[in-house]
Amino acid sequence: MDYEKLPEPGEGLRLHLNENTGGCSPAVIEALRAITASQVSFYPDYGAATAACAELLGVDPAWIALTNGLDEGIWAAANSCLRVGDTLGEAIISEPAFDMYAACVNAVGGRLVAVPPCADLVFPLERVLAAITPRTRLVFLCSPNNPTGLAIANDDLEAVALALPAGALLFLDEAYADFARGSFLARVADFPNVVVGRTFAKAYGLAALRAGCVVGRPEAIDIVRRTIPPYSLNVCALEGMRAAIVDRGHHRWYCAQVAESRELIYESCGRLGLEWWPSEANFVLVRVGARARPLVQALARRGVFIRDRTTEPGCDGCVRITAGVVQHTRVCLSAVEEVLCEAQ
Ligand SMILES: *Cc1c(COP(=O)(O)O)cnc(C)c1O
Repeated sequence: MDYEKLPEPGEGLRLHLNENTGGCSPAVIEALRAITASQVSFYPDYGAATAACAELLGVDPAWIALTNGLDEGIWAAANSCLRVGDTLGEAIISEPAFDMYAACVNAVGGRLVAVPPCADLVFPLERVLAAITPRTRLVFLCSPNNPTGLAIANDDLEAVALALPAGALLFLDEAYADFARGSFLARVADFPNVVVGRTFAKAYGLAALRAGCVVGRPEAIDIVRRTIPPYSLNVCALEGMRAAIVDRGHHRWYCAQVAESRELIYESCGRLGLEWWPSEANFVLVRVGARARPLVQALARRGVFIRDRTTEPGCDGCVRITAGVVQHTRVCLSAVEEVLCEAQ
C-alpha cells in the first residue's frame, strides 16, 4: 500500500505522529500481565470488549465493529464499498487528508476524487457536495481533521450524508474526538449511510496494541464488516481496550494535558509571530514558512521530532506539533523558540 511509513526516528521526544506521549494507563499493563495461557491459546472473545466500547460510546453493541486499529476500519470500508461488480467505485476525500484514505482507495483499485482545500483550510462543504456523483460509493471525512485540527460542523456532515446516492457510505473518521468539543455520534442513528470511526491509539495511548472501532446503524456496519476478518484483534488489544476504558481518570488527565499544551503552543506562536489553526485535536498545525524544513531538521538533531506537512495540499510551510503531556510540550517549544530565534 502506498502510504508514508516514516523511518524510526530513534531516541527522543516523539511529537510527529500524534501518539500519546504520556503512555497508556497502568491498568492496561496490569490487564496484559493478567492474561492467562488458555486466553492466549483460544480464539479471542470479543464480547466483553465490544460491550465496554458500546457503553463508552452510548450505543448498542450491535452497532459496533471492533477493528485492528482504526486503519483497518478505513481499509475495510474501502474494500467493501469500492469493489462493486465491474465498475470502479469513486471515493471522495477532502484535502488535506489523512494519507490512509488515498492509500486504501488506490490499493483496492477505486477511483480517488480529491477535493482541494480553501485557503483557510476550513471544511469546503460546497466543493465536497459538488464532487458527489451517481458513481460515488464512499466519502472519507475527518473531524477534527488531521493535520488541521479543525472540526466539521454536524450540519455540514448531515448535508453530505443527505446528498449521497443510494448505497454510498460516509465514513467519518473521529480519531481525535476525545479532544474535541463535539462528535457526530449522537446523530448517527438518523443516518443509515454514515459510520463513525474511533481509535484507542490517541487519547488512550494504545497505538502499539492496535485497537479501534467503527460505529453506526447495523445496516451500515454490516457493509464495513464484510471485509474484516473474524479475529483481527488479538487478546492483548481486547483486554487492553477494556482496561483503558475503565480508567476514566487517566483519560481525563491526558485530555486536560492536551488542552493545556495546545494553549502553550498558541502562546508560543504568538511570541514568534507564527500563524496557527485553533485545534480540537492533540496537535497544532503551525505555518512557519520557508523555515519549516530546517526547523524540523534542527529539532530532530536535538532529539525533538515534529512533522513537516509542507507538501500537504494547502499546508505550504506548515509543521504539525503533537500536543501531549505539558512538560513535553514545554521542552519542544523552548527548542522551537531557540532554533527560530537563532536563525534570525
Ligand atoms: C492516527 C489516525 C488513525 C489511525 O488510528 P489507528 O487506530 O492507530 O489505526 C486514523 N485516522 C486518523 C485521522 C488518524 O490520525
